[in-house]
Amino acid sequence: VIRRRGFYGGLIMSASHNPGGPDEDWGIKFNYSAGEPAPERITDRIYEETQRIESLRIADIGDVDLSAVGAVDLDGFSVEVIDPVADYLATLEEVFDFDLLRGLLQRRDFSMKFDAMHAITGVYAKPILCDVLGAPESSIMNGVPLEDFGKGHPDPNLTYAKELVDIMFAEGAPVFGAASDGDGDRNMILGGNFFVTPSDSVAVIAANAQACIPYFKGGLKGVARSMPTGAALDRVAEKLGLQFNEVPTGWKFFGNLMDSKALFGGTDYTPFLCGEESFGTGSDHVREKDGLWAVLAWLQILAAHNQPGKPLVTVESIVKDHWATYGRNYYCRYDYEGVDKPKAQAMFAAMTSATASNTGRVVQGNTIATADVFEYLDPVDGSISKNQGIRFLMEDGSRVIFRLSGTAGSGATVRMYIEKYVPPTGQLHEVCANVVGDLVKAALELSSLVKFTGMESPTVIT
Ligand code: MG
Repeated sequence: VIRRRGFYGGLIMSASHNPGGPDEDWGIKFNYSAGEPAPERITDRIYEETQRIESLRIADIGDVDLSAVGAVDLDGFSVEVIDPVADYLATLEEVFDFDLLRGLLQRRDFSMKFDAMHAITGVYAKPILCDVLGAPESSIMNGVPLEDFGKGHPDPNLTYAKELVDIMFAEGAPVFGAASDGDGDRNMILGGNFFVTPSDSVAVIAANAQACIPYFKGGLKGVARSMPTGAALDRVAEKLGLQFNEVPTGWKFFGNLMDSKALFGGTDYTPFLCGEESFGTGSDHVREKDGLWAVLAWLQILAAHNQPGKPLVTVESIVKDHWATYGRNYYCRYDYEGVDKPKAQAMFAAMTSATASNTGRVVQGNTIATADVFEYLDPVDGSISKNQGIRFLMEDGSRVIFRLSGTAGSGATVRMYIEKYVPPTGQLHEVCANVVGDLVKAALELSSLVKFTGMESPTVIT
C-alpha cells in the first residue's frame, strides 16, 4: 500500500507473532516511504521531535465505517478507507504468473492447506488463493481473524502451527502446506510429510528465482541472510555469482541493501531476495518480509516444475534436488530461556576472550577455521554493528553460533545455532538430530554452557 500509493509512510498496529491478550507484547510499527520498517536515522529523528512536543490535540470525531471503501469528511478532516487486499493483489500480479498458478491449483493431484492462524492473512487468503487463483475454500484453515487469534499463538513454526503440522504429516496429506503469523510477515512452508527450514526456503527460492518467478526473470542481483540463518543461501550465491551479504539479525540491514541505489546512490542490489531463520522471507517488491509472497513464490516454483500431464513434482523432491546440487545444511536452534543475565554475559565474555585460542582447535572432530565475534560494516551507510554474536566456523562449512538476547525482567535467552554442512556427495537424507550430535557436543564444550548457566537442556529446540 505504501509503495503503490506513494505514501510518506504507514503506522501499523501489530503484535507480530505474539498471542493475544492484555499482558502480551504489541506495538506500533512505522514503515517509511520505501515500504520497509523505518531505519534508525528516521526513528532517531522521530524521537528527537517528540522531545519538542509542547501540547497534544485530540480530535473528537466519530467512528469511521471501515466496511465502506471511499473518502469520508469529518469536519474538514478527510479519511479515506481503502481496500489493502486490492493493492497487494495488484503487486503480486506484477511479481507472479497467475495463469501458471491457476494451472497448478487446478491439477487433480494437487492440494494445499494454508493456515492463517486466525490472523491478518485470513483477510488476504480467500480473495487471493480462492477467488483469484481458484483454490477450494477448504484449502484455508483458521481463515477468520479473531481478536484473540482463537486463543492460539500465531507464530508459524512446528510448535505453534501444530494443527497444520498434524494435517501435513498425516497419511494422505496435502501436497503443499503453509502458515503465516499474526501480522502476515512470517511464513512456514511444508510439503506432504516434509518441513522446509526457513534457511533452506530462501536458498531454494533464490536458486529457482530466475527460471520460475517472473519478477526475477532478468536475474537476481543480490541476496542476503541474517548471520544465524543457515548458510544454504551462500552456496546458491556462489554458484550463481550473486552479490551476497551476511547481516546482523534485524530487517533494517536488508532494507539498506534494497535501498542502496535508490536512496543512497550506491551499488544496486536489486532484484533482491533475503531471509531469516526465524521464518522471515522477502524481496524488494515491498521491501518487507512478506508471508503470503513467500507462499506464492513456492507455489510458483511448484507450478514451473510441474508440466501438464506429467507426474507431480513435490516440495520434497524440489528440496532434495536442491541438496543434490548444493549440499545440505542440517540446521537446528537451541533456545535457553530465562537464563540469569550476568551468568549469560560471563559465558559470552569467556567465549569472546578465547576466540584467538579457539581458532585452529579441533573439538569433537570439528576443526575450527575461524572463531570470532560477528561485526558488520554496512556497505550502504558505512555504519558498524558490533557484538552481533559469536561464530565458530568449521573447516568443512559447518557452523556453531551463539547469540544473547535480553528481555527486560525475565532474564536472558541464549540461542545456540547448530549447522552441519554435508556436500552433495554426502548423506543428504538423514534425520537432523542424528547428524548434528557431535556439533552440539562441540558447542557445549566451547561455551561451557552448562557450567555457566546451570541449564542441562534447552527450553525450546527448533
Ligand atoms: Mg510478524
